[in-house]
Amino acid sequence: MGFADSYIHAIGASNLKDDERHHQAEPLMASAFAAADLTGDLGPLLHRVKFFDSLARNEFEGNPGNLVQLLRLWIAEVTKRGRARRWVPENTAWDAEAALKLYRQVAEHSLAYWLDGKCEPCGGTGVEQTRACKCCSGTGKAELTMAAGFVREHTLNMVSELHSIADGHAARASSKLRR
Ligand SMILES: [Zn+2]
Repeated sequence: MGFADSYIHAIGASNLKDDERHHQAEPLMASAFAAADLTGDLGPLLHRVKFFDSLARNEFEGNPGNLVQLLRLWIAEVTKRGRARRWVPENTAWDAEAALKLYRQVAEHSLAYWLDGKCEPCGGTGVEQTRACKCCSGTGKAELTMAAGFVREHTLNMVSELHSIADGHAARASSKLRR
């Protein structure tokens, strides 16, 4: 069976389970990884991990390996962006090591927050008992507590860049649906 065949099979699959017994969704995932490798567009992968893997109700649904892979790609992307914007100097070996640690931290925090940054008391609705939620002042967003100072600032920027990568992909994908 060629890739196109398995992809078509995956699209028509009755479920998207992706484990030892159900490999129907695998071609969709492989396609998303290939797109990310080739074009650097993480959009398809972000959707898959956020809206399928993290919503899986049972352990055997979804694939935690996808998140690991996504994080690896996102660390590489944050490293690229951080270097281009000269977040920190990388002149000495010590600097370079500290810089890598920073890129990794920012990538981990921003991806975690993007995947699940909802305010807990109101469940992200911003409303609690018909009033604006006190905890988040109606924004629906949780406080970013895992990072402070410099790291927090870069993390917030990368969270908004994750949103724009995902939104860009969603817009391109939905324009194809209308045709
Ligand atoms: Zn709230």
